[in-house]
Amino acid sequence: MIYDAAIVGTGPAGVSAALNLQIHQKKFVWIGSRNLSDKIAKAEKISNYPGLLDVTGEQLMQAYREQIAGMQIPIEEHMVSSIMKMGDHFALMAGNEYYETRTVILATGISIRTTIENETEYLGRGVSYCATCDGALYRGRTIAVVSNNARFEHEVQYLSQLAGTVHFFPQYPKPAVKADNVVLHADKIRSVVGETNVNSVLLSGGESLAVDGVFLLRDSISFQTLLKGLEVADNHIVVDRQMATNIPGVYAAGDCTGRPYQYAKAVGEGNVAAHAVLEYLQLIMK
Ligand code: FAD
Repeated sequence: MIYDAAIVGTGPAGVSAALNLQIHQKKFVWIGSRNLSDKIAKAEKISNYPGLLDVTGEQLMQAYREQIAGMQIPIEEHMVSSIMKMGDHFALMAGNEYYETRTVILATGISIRTTIENETEYLGRGVSYCATCDGALYRGRTIAVVSNNARFEHEVQYLSQLAGTVHFFPQYPKPAVKADNVVLHADKIRSVVGETNVNSVLLSGGESLAVDGVFLLRDSISFQTLLKGLEVADNHIVVDRQMATNIPGVYAAGDCTGRPYQYAKAVGEGNVAAHAVLEYLQLIMK
């Protein structure tokens, strides 16, 4: 099946795009987190969102949840690891799932600038962004896992069931992964080292650790890793007033397109992107 649209990201921009596509009865897949976005939950008090008086992030989140549930919009709980252009449509890889779609709305929030040295060079040659996709390749072997969010702990747990040893580098407080073969590190990985494939990692303290693979489980993936050829400037996706990117059929909305990083902008851009998708679909389906 080919979807009309895929929305990548479940923050306010993704929510707004999803509500609009649902109202217009489009066949779309929405990929991200059922917890929507940490950036909603973490806001203590929101005073600049029209119509809502001093709500907390939790209250806004609850309102979004009720609206999404009321409109029966499902969320596929995955990180999209790559988007490929396939002639007249796109293919998205997300966990073990593969989706085909005519259009894409990127609503991923800002991309983390910090990458580990050589990370992209060894992508597919020992570096992976997806535990479910690549975990089985490391059965009985030694791996390093970096994660910036506790929500990926079930994936670390899953990797511990396959790998011989897991060197775990959590980038958040109080990690709760428990398995005999998981070695917890307070240090950071500075660079990935290898020849044809990864063979070790260099830690920020200078120590070298022999590993067969490195899993990077993060809330965001660099835009150009996600979609090759996407125009990016100053770490933001370049869009026009219709939220169209340089790739026909691909739109972007929210923090990923630039400042100000605000709910109202994200929601507005999600709305514009959804309407631009509707117009684009009308053109290509003629
Ligand atoms: P995000 O909310 O960042 O959501 C993006 C989502 O996409 C995330 O869930 C992410 O995990 C997911 N994602 C990313 N990559 C992928 C992928 N490859 N596959 C699947 N999913 C992916 N703004 C205001 O206007 N007023 C405020 O009072 C305010 N307070 C704030 C307080 C805090 C503590 C913080 C952190 C932010 C605050 N903001 C505030 C800013 C606001 O949270 C952001 O501008 C807004 O959340 C941006 O929405 P977004 O949809 O663009 O991205």
